[in-house]
Amino acid sequence: MGLDTLRMYIDGEWVTARSGATFDSYDPSTGEVWCRLPDADAEDVDAAVQAAQRAFEAPAWAGLTATARGKLLHRLGEQIVEHGEELAQLESRDNGKLIRETRGQVGYLPEFFHYNAGLADKVVGETLPLDKADMFGATVRVPLGVVAAIIPWNSPLYLTAIKLAPALAAGNTVVIKPSEHASASLIRLMRLVEQAGFPPGVVNLVTGFGPTTGAALTGHPLVRKIAFTGGAGAARHVVRNSAENFAKLSLELGGKSPNILFEDADLDSAINGVVAGVFAASGQSCVAGSRLLVQRGIYDDVVERLCKRARTIRIGDPADAETEMGPMATQAQLEIVERMVTQAQADGSRLLHGGERPAIERGWYYTPTILACESHDIPIMQEEVFGPVVAVIPFDDEAEALRLANDTEYGLAAGIWTRDLGRAHRLGRDIRAGILWVNTYRAVSAMAPIGGFGASGYGRECGIDAVRDYTELKTLWINLSTQPMPDPFIMR
Ligand code: NDP
Repeated sequence: MGLDTLRMYIDGEWVTARSGATFDSYDPSTGEVWCRLPDADAEDVDAAVQAAQRAFEAPAWAGLTATARGKLLHRLGEQIVEHGEELAQLESRDNGKLIRETRGQVGYLPEFFHYNAGLADKVVGETLPLDKADMFGATVRVPLGVVAAIIPWNSPLYLTAIKLAPALAAGNTVVIKPSEHASASLIRLMRLVEQAGFPPGVVNLVTGFGPTTGAALTGHPLVRKIAFTGGAGAARHVVRNSAENFAKLSLELGGKSPNILFEDADLDSAINGVVAGVFAASGQSCVAGSRLLVQRGIYDDVVERLCKRARTIRIGDPADAETEMGPMATQAQLEIVERMVTQAQADGSRLLHGGERPAIERGWYYTPTILACESHDIPIMQEEVFGPVVAVIPFDDEAEALRLANDTEYGLAAGIWTRDLGRAHRLGRDIRAGILWVNTYRAVSAMAPIGGFGASGYGRECGIDAVRDYTELKTLWINLSTQPMPDPFIMR
């Protein structure tokens, strides 16, 4: 794509910003500019939302049966199957994620569209067993209208798919705002939306910066739902902004997820789970298992095995299929990680491995980092790093493991490594997190809800309930009586 200026997709047209303004997008593996993007202002955003609102009301979309909407979604899934490699390459280039990982994610991407295609005509209401003999009651689910999808830089295609597919299945229209750091793969996805045959305006995409483009979108009076994934700081702005339009909200804000290793665990498997949890995607994952709680009897063994594995992790060019860890997506994120590791050491944590930039000439790389901590009450144990950094702490028994696991304001995910089924069930019940993985980590499925407790946000994505979140519930009352309405001054 060279240094082309990519275009936004509004109302079925490929457009620049009306002002003509653009900004640079960087390749994290070199730190160099690789393409330019339109910088959408409030006027561009308004054009996209108005187009989405028109499309929402127009017969070309509103007049489709739910089954027909499902067929369109299915076609989009098939387009992704056909063009998957190109999408994977683009995303890897744009945010520095490993090609082996983007291939894996894109390989699964069609499932989100196929699953929601099947759900489209199964979004049902209910008849109500009313306590009034002369009334018939039923609920009906209807689409909300324009949905704003705010997408971060770490997994643009995946995090868009889990919003776009249920939103469309339910009959809404969508305006997507990718991160300024990683828009290219989503722009390519818009071509596939077009080729799948969605009417103009049903899906739109605007590029730009969070505080301007994102704020104009989330505060737009016609937006009825905001589906946001990102950090707590931006989320607070979004929540405040939604006071302008009273849009429904779903927030997925990351976490400080514990990976808990018990003495009876299969350690080979558990170490792989720990590595997958925190070093895959260079730790830039909302579900990163960034707290490692290890039962004291296996603590030394676990730390030794983990350091040994960390030493062999191949860091480098994300486009090389052999690479295991690529760069951080942005220079700012690299600097955050460095600051947090320095602070952790000042707080008494012991650096067991990593803690530096590797000897790679260009790009925003950081080594896999392991910190041994005595205290759980320090920032590295409490705050999201969003980098390849794991903080390890020992525990004595199940009760202490549970206390530590829940000692955080977050509650997105947890990994439990044990062969004891009762313990797995007890912790699965008692840990305050939206996703509990037992003897596995970082598994995802179109059928399995994702979402958090507390500072990890609210609302759930994926699964059957997600599509209902993109609807409004109406209640229908039908008076069956042949008698005239009784006393109008008494509530019936
Ligand atoms: P942000 O939370 O700022 O970005 C997420 C999305 O929100 C981006 O599209 C961003 O646009 C947009 N945005 C930012 N400000 C606003 C606003 N005022 N109104 C509307 N939209 C807005 O992520 P950061 O890059 O700042 O990362 C900060 C931290 O967030 C990370 O260190 C990490 O801890 C966490 N994070 C969590 C993610 C997750 O998967 N849960 C993903 C990414 C980050 P733009 O990028 O153009 O500014």
